[in-house]
Amino acid sequence: MVIGAGPYGLATAARLIASGVRLRIFGEPMQGWHTHMPEGMYLKSVPAASSISAPEPGYGFADFRAAQGSGPVGDLYPIPVEEFIGYGRWFQERRVPEVERSMVRGVQAVDGGFGITLDSGEEFLASAVVVSTGLVPFAHEPRELRRFAAAGLTSHACEHRNMTRFAGQRVAVLGAGQSALESAALLHEAAARPTVVACARSVRFGDRPQADLPDTRSRAMRLRKPASTLGPGWSLWAVSRGPAAYRHLPTPMRMRVLHSVLGPSGAWWLRDRVAGRVPVLSGRTLVSAAPEDGNVRLELADPGGGRELVRADHLLMATGYRVDVDRLGLLEPTLRQAVQTFGGAPRLSAGFQSSVPGLYFTGLAAAPCFGPVLRFVCGTGFAARQVAAAVAATSR
Ligand SMILES: Cc1cc2nc3c(=O)[nH]c(=O)nc-3n(C[C@H](O)[C@H](O)[C@H](O)COP(=O)(O)OP(=O)(O)OC[C@H]3O[C@@H](n4cnc5c(N)ncnc54)[C@H](O)[C@@H]3O)c2cc1C
Repeated sequence: MVIGAGPYGLATAARLIASGVRLRIFGEPMQGWHTHMPEGMYLKSVPAASSISAPEPGYGFADFRAAQGSGPVGDLYPIPVEEFIGYGRWFQERRVPEVERSMVRGVQAVDGGFGITLDSGEEFLASAVVVSTGLVPFAHEPRELRRFAAAGLTSHACEHRNMTRFAGQRVAVLGAGQSALESAALLHEAAARPTVVACARSVRFGDRPQADLPDTRSRAMRLRKPASTLGPGWSLWAVSRGPAAYRHLPTPMRMRVLHSVLGPSGAWWLRDRVAGRVPVLSGRTLVSAAPEDGNVRLELADPGGGRELVRADHLLMATGYRVDVDRLGLLEPTLRQAVQTFGGAPRLSAGFQSSVPGLYFTGLAAAPCFGPVLRFVCGTGFAARQVAAAVAATSR
């Protein structure tokens, strides 16, 4: 059984079906993208790195565009999120039409497998479970800010589909990555008054690609910064090519690379929408936050040790995602506790199997084991091949 119908669940299911494994797959196709990302967003990944993997050719992003009568596009084309959602649904209808739009309410270990309960109340047994429920369960909010969420003063970036509700409001955006900078741009364009608050010394933007097709770049540039699905550069090339080897690195090194290799930055096309338009308070550490007259008051420390107060109507936390098996409420507590973890993430075999036989994790949950490529759609090929081979081997 596959839980989740986003890029990872769909790619895994497509491979399993091709391997002759009988399966059920649950979830709302592309829900992570149409419910938890803002309208008007663009993908940071380039078209060549934005295909959901299928067992045979003909189902890539370029094939989808061709089927729509649209021409080919290269690295200079930021993909609108709406187009990508359309692609994901097109893929699902053709490769995984058996998706059941029910949600899984509970998974518990039973003799020889897993007992599954759906939100419809249906119960059944599965011999293997692939968890591909995406990023949202792992949305990270700094502990000191969580208590203000109930009052509507704070929220995580994944809670917003439409920024127009903030029109006229002062919104402090916490973070310096793509999500923070794009949220700030969209807020500004929705007539809100955003301010970016970042602990990074400065906010960074990527460089505009030298050419639409990476192979047409100058030879010197290709040698200095080889192209990869994660972007140009030797370190990105290495982690994108070697997720299997990454798993054998010492744990502290893996965690360091995971958090540093793609440091926080905005896409090249965001620079003009943020720089000079949205105030940025960089190098600031959040010291405290408190509600004040229906607003939120933030106390920030600057690099020189000074303190400053910022008042906002709302604090938007673009503070990313942290894998923690304990937050996967659909796994019964005893099953969760049986999963061996490191830093909250599941320890996985080469076939993405956890310490509980038959229980697999893919997508972001597998990134601490296999590296940053598992955070992106371009990791679906490696993950789906490995999971499908491991599941198919045990179901023969
Ligand atoms: C703002 C933002 C921008 C991003 N931009 C890019 C980008 O440009 N390029 C890129 O490659 N990646 C990008 N990512 C990362 C991208 O979201 C992931 O790579 C990808 O979506 C992961 O796919 P997934 O299938 O693991 O999860 P998701 O796409 O999140 O899908 C999760 C699935 O699980 C299902 N589900 C959840 N709970 C249950 C349940 N209890 N029962 C049944 N089903 C359930 C949902 O219905 C959904 O179908 C971005 C992420 C964010 C937050």
